[in-house]
Amino acid sequence: MIQNIKGTKDILPTDIAVWHTIENVFRTIPQLYGYEEIRTPLFESTSLFKRGVGEGTDIVGKEMYVFDDKGGESLTLRPELTAPVARAILQYNLIRHYPTLRVWYYGACFRYEQPQLGRQRQFHQVGAECAGSTNPESDAEIILLAHRLISSCGITDFTLHINSIGTSEERSSYRTLLLDYLNSHRTELSEDAQRRMDKNPLRTLDSKDERDKAVCANAPSILDSLGADSSKRFAAIQEMLSSAGIAYSVNPALVRGLDYYSHTVFEFRTDKLGSQDALGGGGRYDNLFESLGAKPIPGVGFGLGVERLILLMQQQQLVEASHCDVVIITSQSGLTEGATIAESLRSAGLRVKTDVQRRSFKAQLKDIDKSSATYAVILGDDEVSSGNALIKNLASHEQQIVALSD
Ligand code: AMP
Repeated sequence: MIQNIKGTKDILPTDIAVWHTIENVFRTIPQLYGYEEIRTPLFESTSLFKRGVGEGTDIVGKEMYVFDDKGGESLTLRPELTAPVARAILQYNLIRHYPTLRVWYYGACFRYEQPQLGRQRQFHQVGAECAGSTNPESDAEIILLAHRLISSCGITDFTLHINSIGTSEERSSYRTLLLDYLNSHRTELSEDAQRRMDKNPLRTLDSKDERDKAVCANAPSILDSLGADSSKRFAAIQEMLSSAGIAYSVNPALVRGLDYYSHTVFEFRTDKLGSQDALGGGGRYDNLFESLGAKPIPGVGFGLGVERLILLMQQQQLVEASHCDVVIITSQSGLTEGATIAESLRSAGLRVKTDVQRRSFKAQLKDIDKSSATYAVILGDDEVSSGNALIKNLASHEQQIVALSD
């Protein structure tokens, strides 16, 4: 029997209700902030991600689904949506029409990773990008939008971590300081960190290995390497979050894996999903458009992992099972009447199920509880001959006889 591919998941009818719930949140919340939806293709030119995400990242280095199409062009299944959205902004010159471009997206992403709880090879992200402003207001807006998206799903078990990684000059002087410190503790670090630190010492701060965490606990803080302007900018964002009543913690060890970030980076975390504790995050990417060969355009955005949000909603039992409003139970003599009633109830907006198996009246009655309906309309031989229907509330078991003409 052919099975689905490892790392992918079928979403079965029994699980679809939570997807519909969360998709409704996606469709309503970004609009509250003036964001409009953008949809881009599932695959792009491989060079987009090499340039837009960065060749030094795990995503580009190890995780992309890359293939040559029949014309010999190298294509990649998108591992994220910021680079595709940036491409579309440039391609259609979207900034020309609006000085600040606000878009949100939702869709499948692909990464060749080891599957586990909360980690798949095909997964979904929802996110937003605000392009065209260098001001801290846009950073705060993006963080508030992401926060509201998560809380509108009913999720409460999450924390917000924020940091500033400054300008590329500030980062490079911090890099030297950090590398000196790490070198002086080299033998205490994990083998992995020792191998990676010369190329990208900031990544050591992200390590989950206890030995690295112990060394990094006393590492110099990037916040001490920020100049006055960057510090002021970061303080302004914190002030805006505080006045919006949002709880956050400043985490100088938060650097995030992508090459394109500068200044603000943030992440939403949970302690309810084991090692896959990141719900999502983002940051400011003032250099992204330049790396795609365009003139500089400032931007800030985030991406959240939809499967992880859904896992939390399921854990917190925030999921309503799908159900229907009415099940129609008919004897053979009531088939036509039943079909007519079903259609008129549907015209009134009710969700109605009828029996299409031609099962006996008795068999339909026996399965009444499996229908997940609120009401049953019952048309047995007696009801049909007397021109009535029996309406039963399946929760309270109250019932009432109503004339068909009513
Ligand atoms: P990133 O673009 O790596 O920052 O990812 C943003 C968010 O997407 C992460 O915090 C996760 O919630 C989610 N995510 C990333 N990779 C995966 C994956 N392989 N499976 C499920 N969710 C993922």
